[in-house]
Amino acid sequence: MSGDLNEGDVERLRETIGGDVVLPGEAAYDPSRQAWNLAADQHPAAVVLAESADDVASTVLFATDNGLRVAPQGTGHGAGSVPDLSGAVLLKLSRLTDVSIDPAAGGARAGAGAQWRNVVGPAAEHGLAAMHGSSGTVGLVGYHAGGGHAWVGRSRGWACNNVRSFDVVTADGEQRTAAADSEPDLFWALRGGGGSHAIVTGMEVDLFEMTSAYAGGLLWEIERASEIATAWRDLTAAAPEELASTLKLVRFPPFPEVPDPLRGRALVGVTFAFRGSADDGEELLAPLRAAADPYLDQTGEVPAPALAEIAGDPPDPVPALAFGAPLDELGDDAVAAYVELAGPEADVPLIHLEIRHLGGALARGDAANGALDSLSSPYMLGAIGPVPVPEARAGVEATFAAIGERMEPWTSERTLLGFAEQNPDWRGSFPEEAAVRLADVRAAYDPGGLIVSNHDAG
Ligand SMILES: Cc1cc2nc3c(=O)[nH]c(=O)nc-3n(C[C@H](O)[C@H](O)[C@H](O)COP(=O)(O)OP(=O)(O)OC[C@H]3O[C@@H](n4cnc5c(N)ncnc54)[C@H](O)[C@@H]3O)c2cc1C
Repeated sequence: MSGDLNEGDVERLRETIGGDVVLPGEAAYDPSRQAWNLAADQHPAAVVLAESADDVASTVLFATDNGLRVAPQGTGHGAGSVPDLSGAVLLKLSRLTDVSIDPAAGGARAGAGAQWRNVVGPAAEHGLAAMHGSSGTVGLVGYHAGGGHAWVGRSRGWACNNVRSFDVVTADGEQRTAAADSEPDLFWALRGGGGSHAIVTGMEVDLFEMTSAYAGGLLWEIERASEIATAWRDLTAAAPEELASTLKLVRFPPFPEVPDPLRGRALVGVTFAFRGSADDGEELLAPLRAAADPYLDQTGEVPAPALAEIAGDPPDPVPALAFGAPLDELGDDAVAAYVELAGPEADVPLIHLEIRHLGGALARGDAANGALDSLSSPYMLGAIGPVPVPEARAGVEATFAAIGERMEPWTSERTLLGFAEQNPDWRGSFPEEAAVRLADVRAAYDPGGLIVSNHDAG
């Protein structure tokens, strides 16, 4: 028996729940504690693999009785900023993958273990699309807890403000529904306010009509970084809200699974999705093609579910650290600094240094919105650094520090929770009034601080 866990309590939990309880020392412990981000080395006092909301409620009561906290996790994409779990039960929700589409109501219900790739296909059967971001394997719950930057965000806002309801278990072990007309403060906090206020067991989200988009990626030799970055900045400054795009300076690893034209190469790329005709999309992107002939041009009309793949995010688990910082300006000097940091002259341990275009509806507030109401920053800087061995961590962290320092003149004072792995203090992601309200909701629903999140809010 591990640590101070009460043996009888563990046996009772095992008998009560439909899922599994795994303790340190057991053969299943290592695979069970593993997160999608392989760089996160989690050592919880126990792992519970839940199969129902009842399992979650039983786990909460078990943890309370044993003086442990509870760390809910869906996929583990956001595990990089989860604190030490030695005094916690790691509560895996990954088996709760049920998804159902209600075409008449234009919504989807998803279990807390659902990933976007589980939603986009069934939604498309009804001509509907979802508010996912660049990766199909990100889980809905953690994504919305951090706000949710979707391909269609510039026209539809933060994904969290398109959530209809959450089914939750609160720190007292009660099962509740949080929606506009039920537990409204909790509903507000769960929409972009981090994962500290309740354990989500399922949720209902808006879908919208879209069957296809003009989308894809253009890539150039890294030597063209300066012209492309400037052309992209100019293009985004005047872009309609239907056009979303990301600029990337990429180092493709020399691995056999990377396709031949990309393997081992340093390139500059623009990935985009346009809700409009291919003709209009081509016209919008013309300045990029005019700036330099692309090395690879993979653009065209794609079915809506393909948007969950066009960014080329890895579908399988990887060991990596992430950095993210909203930018308030992107003038010529900021573009030059960006290119200097990861362009042709730079030798950096990064997979990419990207700039996402925000703005549009992401910057517009609404009284009905949740904790992440709006963010005025028009761009967001992001970086991913691989850590195949623990010794690689220091080099990546030093690179992130150098990026942060060089881009500081244009960096927002606000962070964005879903991308703030290096700044786990949740307060930086909210205006003062929202931070106070989040702390109040935490005090009301989890006064003992039972729930551990990757941004321990409130
Ligand atoms: C490759 C990649 C691409 C990404 N692309 C985007 C993007 O385009 N747009 C965007 O907005 N974000 C993006 N992200 C960031 C992503 O949204 C966050 O990492 C998010 O935390 C992942 O959610 P998850 O549920 O998959 O991960 P998890 O690590 O399982 O969850 C993250 C946190 O959410 C909370 N949480 C999870 N499940 C529950 C639950 N059931 N109840 C209560 N709290 C819970 C916990 O605090 C947990 O620590 C990306 C991340 C990666 C790695």
